[in-house]
Amino acid sequence: MKKLDKKFLEQFTVIYNEDSPFASPFTCGNKSYVTDTRILLAVPALGDVSVKDGEPFLKATELLTLNPPPEPRDVEAWVSLSSTLIQAALCLECKGCGEVTFSNDYHSYENWCGDLECKSCNGIGLREGFRVSTKHGSNCLRIGNHLIAACYIQDLLKLPDCCIAPYYSDWKNPIPIRFTGGIGLLMGVNPLTPVEDDES
Ligand SMILES: [Zn+2]
Repeated sequence: MKKLDKKFLEQFTVIYNEDSPFASPFTCGNKSYVTDTRILLAVPALGDVSVKDGEPFLKATELLTLNPPPEPRDVEAWVSLSSTLIQAALCLECKGCGEVTFSNDYHSYENWCGDLECKSCNGIGLREGFRVSTKHGSNCLRIGNHLIAACYIQDLLKLPDCCIAPYYSDWKNPIPIRFTGGIGLLMGVNPLTPVEDDES
């Protein structure tokens, strides 16, 4: 299983603004958190993640209190990312991550391996018939009451056994997330901004 340590959390920080208070994971109370301001994840407190108690941090953690996730046993509420509903929408080539790993067996190329943008979906991770494009150029998956940007589907796929509750809240509220070892929230895309289906 993936180890939910500080390094793992760092994948979900604000990467475009080093001055942001959320440029690294933080600990408040008995949990460690990470957010890029659209996705918020919480795991049991990690010893090497610094404790913060300023307003922006408390506000972020309050979001989870204000939007408690449904009970794990509420099977009606949760949709697993491995469910056929979501798997059907993912690119067959890269399984939704937007990248394919290049490797071959030739000795001379041994060191030239890496992740390349998936050509089947141009790195979006979603199959064409399932994409909803916004005017701002982002590609989304429509699920339940929400539009979820493709890049966040890719983030969710990094979480072990991730489930989302897309029918639980309306689009104005964040979508509850749970995964082995933690919980979280994701802001969807405002469906009132003009959207059009790819094929139209
Ligand atoms: Zn792909």
